[in-house]
Amino acid sequence: MASDPGCGTGPLFSLAGQVALVLGASRGIGRACAFALGRQGARVLVNGRDAGRAARTVRELGEAGIRAEAVVFDVDDLQGATAAMDAAEARVGPVDILFANAGVQHRAPLLEFDLADFQRVLFTNLTAQWALARHAARGMAARGHGRIVFTGSITAILGRENVTAYTAAKGALHALVRQWSAELAARGVTVNALAPGYIRTDLTQALHGDGEFDAWLRRRTPAGRWGTPEDLASAMVFLAARESGFVTGQILAVDGGLSATM
Ligand code: NDP
Repeated sequence: MASDPGCGTGPLFSLAGQVALVLGASRGIGRACAFALGRQGARVLVNGRDAGRAARTVRELGEAGIRAEAVVFDVDDLQGATAAMDAAEARVGPVDILFANAGVQHRAPLLEFDLADFQRVLFTNLTAQWALARHAARGMAARGHGRIVFTGSITAILGRENVTAYTAAKGALHALVRQWSAELAARGVTVNALAPGYIRTDLTQALHGDGEFDAWLRRRTPAGRWGTPEDLASAMVFLAARESGFVTGQILAVDGGLSATM
């Protein structure tokens, strides 16, 4: 009989005994992925800026039998954020899985886009994700194991109007995934990104009532619908799993086929 190719004898994608930090887990995609990681056995650190929202997510995770705690910080405050990450690791153990998912949107036409808004969106969506993921990567590399997943976006390859800062940040994240994988693969750390299509969350609220956009989206997406945060969950678990150790430097589109039919 052929030997097991390295997936062990336990259930596939078990995350038992691992710690997952999800940046931006208080709502939307991060929240759904926190549930998915927790259901596979990970202990989940729930980040967000809003303490009340993070606490509510932790309570809901607990009701689902998932060990979770809130780690409230603003990712833009890099010093405060790294101190909070260190304190959380001291309490619950080293972070094995980092989902660098916190993100904001600012919509305005290119010719009117304010430079301050451009810099703010770039800082939260790119610089802070880079800095905090690198902070986590140092410990992962030293321990010889880690999983880093960024949240990219379909807008980085689609070219849509009014999202110039967001697109710049997400496009850079897509590039970083490849560059980081080159430096970290030999240290046991994989680096990948999820590239969601249009997902119905607070971030896309401005588009929910836009009938013209809605019709375009349904016509253009082979699946014929908006995504839900839960649509990202299985892809997140796959990239977080020990069994996926040879999968690195990849952008995994979860978009109902939108990018496949460009
Ligand atoms: P939501 O607005 O629903 O959630 C955003 C999350 O990020 C919240 O938990 C929020 O915390 C957190 N967050 C935002 N800014 C900060 C900050 N400065 N510090 C700490 N936490 C912060 O958005 P989504 O779930 O839709 O988005 C999640 C990720 O997915 C983002 O990176 C987004 O760019 C990306 N994405 C989303 C798509 C979509 O269609 N929805 C498509 C492609 C990518 P708090 O509750 O405290 O504000």
